[in-house]
Amino acid sequence: MWNIKLMEQHQKALLDRFSKTTDPVEKQKIVFSLYDLFNALNNSGTIRYTGFYNLLDYLKVPIVLSRDIRYGELSKSYYESYQALNDDGYVSFLKALAENLTGIEMENEETLAAMPMNDTYLIDGAKAFYETIEDEEIRSHALSILNDPKHLNFVRLIRKGSQAYGGLTFHDFIHHNVYCSVQRDDTLFDFVTLTHEVMHGVDFLMNSSVVHSYANGFEELPTYVVDYLTCDFLEEQGFPLEEIEKLRHNEFSFVRDLAFLTLDGLSKERSTSSQNRFPLSVERQALELETCVLAYGLYQQIKENPKEGYDHLKQWIRSNTSRLVRPDFSSLGLSDEKLLTLSTQMGRDNEKTNSMK
Ligand SMILES: [Zn+2]
Repeated sequence: MWNIKLMEQHQKALLDRFSKTTDPVEKQKIVFSLYDLFNALNNSGTIRYTGFYNLLDYLKVPIVLSRDIRYGELSKSYYESYQALNDDGYVSFLKALAENLTGIEMENEETLAAMPMNDTYLIDGAKAFYETIEDEEIRSHALSILNDPKHLNFVRLIRKGSQAYGGLTFHDFIHHNVYCSVQRDDTLFDFVTLTHEVMHGVDFLMNSSVVHSYANGFEELPTYVVDYLTCDFLEEQGFPLEEIEKLRHNEFSFVRDLAFLTLDGLSKERSTSSQNRFPLSVERQALELETCVLAYGLYQQIKENPKEGYDHLKQWIRSNTSRLVRPDFSSLGLSDEKLLTLSTQMGRDNEKTNSMK
């Protein structure tokens, strides 16, 4: 479990450092770290932070954040520099991608069966999963997170506003720490949540730039790859196939919902009041949809040729996707054309699992 005392000490040290530094880059890193640490503590599941607000804890950080650079404005400034969706060709491509994923008939999310879980069992399971990862670098970073309890936290209580996430991962850019939080559900989904959050941690340990962690629009790429791999691992371990199919089904049902939202959002007029741009939520959804297809492509590469697949994944982790130009993933073996083919195939693969039931 997270070491709350240590996190409080780090928070103090960050506040202290913030008041002393004049370097704008460092200031920015501190603000993001403070914001994350503040939210981590609020989602730590401890009564003091999550149950009741301690007014002083609550005030201390936001005051510092608002006095200088507000986190919201800071992250907005990143998004506003995101020009890729001004490209009509890119918008048409994303719409085509979405269309390929909306044509499938399927039922809504399915409820997973309750399964007795405990924290140690989950951690051991996640370790066993990462042991099977055929890439030394990713494996060792993941195990370093899983072997040190200060990075992991399991909660049942999640603060208002964060309930939609099974897990959350927070970063401290100054102390180079990562805090993964898993909301226990006592279903097989807990496994997927843990391996997913740990992969956010691996991504951060391999590239801890603020832009990469927060603002490239494709943040979920490594974790979605791990979601697919985790389902395969659980199947190999002999967990009930019916439950694993539900996990896969729900994953795809999420992609399909996202495709509908994207298609709808991108079909509307761009707002001329905000520099001829789509609303931020539409941009986020569209990029996340592309992320889902990219992840499916990398997952398939890993299945066919692990070295090549993981090398592509690591190549992406190390890069900072530009927000100014239309992204091009050809160097990962995932050209736009390939992504369109994959999106059709994703639909077909999921129709198959649907009809198997
Ligand atoms: Zn995630």
